[in-house]
Amino acid sequence: MIVKSEEPIFTISNAANILGISVHTLRMYEKEGLIIPFRKKSNQRLYSKKDIERVKCIKKTINEDKINIEGMRRVLALLPCWKIINCSENERTACEYFNGYTKPCWMINHKNNICADKECRECEVYNSFGSCSSIKDKLKTLLS
Ligand code: SF4
Repeated sequence: MIVKSEEPIFTISNAANILGISVHTLRMYEKEGLIIPFRKKSNQRLYSKKDIERVKCIKKTINEDKINIEGMRRVLALLPCWKIINCSENERTACEYFNGYTKPCWMINHKNNICADKECRECEVYNSFGSCSSIKDKLKTLLS
């Protein structure tokens, strides 16, 4: 059977084993807004192959590029989501994310705006940071 890369199939223990990190570390990445695992109705976390790639990139960035979690969160806080999902001028000016620089947009509690009913895990903005090269590619496209 072929499993799609987006399909959440690994429990947190499986994912931690595959990645060679602790369950605690995976939870910390989530708490810091670097990853959003899939949640079953029972609230159990599940991870896809794509999530595993994302965490590999996080590990590489921390271990090789010496950027800490705070630094990574701040880079993600600069993603111009309004360009990707085409928010109106009015939505931008009223948006907490647009007016701040410390958290990725998916860490903000969006009320009464275009993102209120969106599923961040499925969003193009969140997925712009699916692998190490994708965030760079996305920024190049947006800045060109
Ligand atoms: S849906 Fe979530 S990830 Fe997408 S732009 Fe809105 S807050 Fe960000």
